[in-house]
Amino acid sequence: MADNNRAELERILELQRTTFTSKRPEPMHMRKDRIKRAIALVRDNGDSFAKAMSADFGNRAFMQSMITDIAATVAAGNDALKHMDEWAKPDKRKVKFPLGLMGAKAEVRYEPKGVVGILSPWNFPVNLAFAPLMQILAAGNRAMIKPSEFTERTSLLMSELVAEYFTPDEVAVFTGGPEVAAAFSSLPFDHLVFTGSTATGRKVMEAAAANLVPVTLELGGKSPVIMGRSADLEKAGERIALGKMMNAGQICLAPDYMYVPEDKEEEAINGVTQGVASMYPTLLHNDDYASVVTDEHFDRLQNMVSDARDKGADIIEVNPGNEDFSTTNSRKMPLTILRNVTDDMQAMQEEIFGPVLPVKTYKNLETAIDYVNANDRPLALYYFGQDKGEQEQVLSKTISGGVTTNDVIFHVSMDDLPFGGVGPSGMGSYHAVEGFREFSHARAVYHQTKVDVAKLGGFKPPYGDAAKKAIKAMMK
Ligand code: NAD
Repeated sequence: MADNNRAELERILELQRTTFTSKRPEPMHMRKDRIKRAIALVRDNGDSFAKAMSADFGNRAFMQSMITDIAATVAAGNDALKHMDEWAKPDKRKVKFPLGLMGAKAEVRYEPKGVVGILSPWNFPVNLAFAPLMQILAAGNRAMIKPSEFTERTSLLMSELVAEYFTPDEVAVFTGGPEVAAAFSSLPFDHLVFTGSTATGRKVMEAAAANLVPVTLELGGKSPVIMGRSADLEKAGERIALGKMMNAGQICLAPDYMYVPEDKEEEAINGVTQGVASMYPTLLHNDDYASVVTDEHFDRLQNMVSDARDKGADIIEVNPGNEDFSTTNSRKMPLTILRNVTDDMQAMQEEIFGPVLPVKTYKNLETAIDYVNANDRPLALYYFGQDKGEQEQVLSKTISGGVTTNDVIFHVSMDDLPFGGVGPSGMGSYHAVEGFREFSHARAVYHQTKVDVAKLGGFKPPYGDAAKKAIKAMMK
């Protein structure tokens, strides 16, 4: 959009910051009113959003959009409304003995930071812009949003609706491509939340560093499934199939690859295949199954499969309806399982972000643990099995953003758990009290006693015996 140039971005940032400063302190009911408007915006326009997302993707199930982008975002808003009074309460802290006895007090106040920028991706375009917004508003901030250029219709609708439900000094949306995104990430925000790829995350952090803007980076990565020997492979397969096929695998938390006991490979693959067939008897003309978002992303996935084939992988296409995908331009792709994968294959080097599932095998569980540790720390890790000792071994010897055991993805839907990555899969988190704190400044406040503490403690020149005593006591 022509007017989303740097000058316009700076003008709105200035407007939001000036209004923020002049209106402080804002009562909680004003924050709540903004959250209620954000909830109404998403809820009352759910149908239009779902249609826009489907048009942007080529196809995306209406019900899936209602679950993942509309209902889940409304739920995030309701969760913030329910808990924000509790989250915002100052924490009483201890003061050094014996200052408490003399009337000194210490507290941490969770105060708004000011203006928070939100840079969001295309895969859950409504959720990943508005769910962080709920907590940003709960913490008393104002927000500027730059949604993805790949979901153009959805982003345009977001920008129209935000202008209807909010004044520009409260929340504003800026549409546009990477040049707008780059200008946006170089603004001197009070905080910046970026959800997207690790590669873009690096650029965002670099741009933010110039202004020392603190960042929350919600990135991607290769989230492994570690299948224990005690796993119920039929159940596990169905759950993995659901997590891998939803949104056609275009989920940051989608199980990226599967590590299974060598002697159970066949059975584990059958579990996933059966899971796909039971949910998607057909794919091509099945509205429940999403398309890959753009031709470029589709080609990337096709190349990934060809690369694996060329380097010796066995390819299993899970095509329950025996449909002919070669004659369609719907960008639909069946789940493609890769066996006998090696580390030099693209599929084992990049985040897959689509319906491709490499399978690796282990003789000893340690091999799988070592592999996870030798690679970038993933956004999520999934363990299947009933062996609690083994589960603990996997959890305590690996590091990942989050974990779900005996299923995939579910930890993100627990309102009371923080959601975020670690290392290359991100930094910081939102959801739950941690999210509120992420968007707040923890301000340390100390209230001094009437007693002359400096003199009593020997800190006041001329230094003498009291100072010597104090030094000795401090180093005891
Ligand atoms: P992306 O990194 O390509 O784009 C995300 C956003 O960055 C877009 O709004 C885009 O306009 C903007 N952008 C592009 N170039 C930029 C630049 N130079 N400077 C600043 N911003 C720029 O990601 P994507 O393809 O939209 O999303 C897919 C990725 O996002 C995957 O890696 C996935 O794992 C990750 N993801 C993470 C989460 C999470 O919560 N951790 C959620 C969803 C997606």
